Amino acid sequence: MRSSGQDGLYARPRMAPGTAADKARLAPFVSPSSRPGVMQEPVLVLNATFEPINVTAVRRAMVLLLKGVAQAEELNHAEVHSATKALKVPSVIRLLAYRHIPKQTRALSRKNILLRDHNTCQFCGNAFPASELTLDHVVPRSRGGRSSWENLVACCYQCNNAKGDRTPEEAGLQLQRRPRPFTLHTSRQLMRLIGHKDEKWRKYLFY
Ligand SMILES: [Zn+2]
Repeated sequence: MRSSGQDGLYARPRMAPGTAADKARLAPFVSPSSRPGVMQEPVLVLNATFEPINVTAVRRAMVLLLKGVAQAEELNHAEVHSATKALKVPSVIRLLAYRHIPKQTRALSRKNILLRDHNTCQFCGNAFPASELTLDHVVPRSRGGRSSWENLVACCYQCNNAKGDRTPEEAGLQLQRRPRPFTLHTSRQLMRLIGHKDEKWRKYLFY
């Protein structure tokens, strides 16, 4: 998985962007040659209350640890080294101060709608590459349908053509599920999908 994609995947609590000072803190540390990509591996971020709120990369998680705003709850089996120190790489970190997470933090965008719908056409139920999906207004705009989380779904071109300027009922199509806003709850489902592979994440995600 590309790390650039990961950053877009989850509801991202507003954290101060990495500063030059942050980068300098981490600069002396290098990944072990056995795991050169370890800095990009995913780390689960918990709120002070142990509620999962985000997934970030090891690099960002280690900056939070070095700044003293988070502590490691679970460790990865890797270490990064500087000339004088070795740091254990975290798998799960927890923020030390409670952070308020707004109910809905996602912008309404094509990318986020495709994420919410798992790149799956909401009419035929087939998964497609993003390039082969369009957005469909369930109630057509010509009929007063709005561009909203509840009225936009991922749709393949074939279903989009079949539907035309009609409602699903008129076109004899059925939605796979009712479209909802992309909320923290949705992000948690995505975290569960990702975390499934990491035993250490489980106890925080499957509660
Ligand atoms: Zn379709």
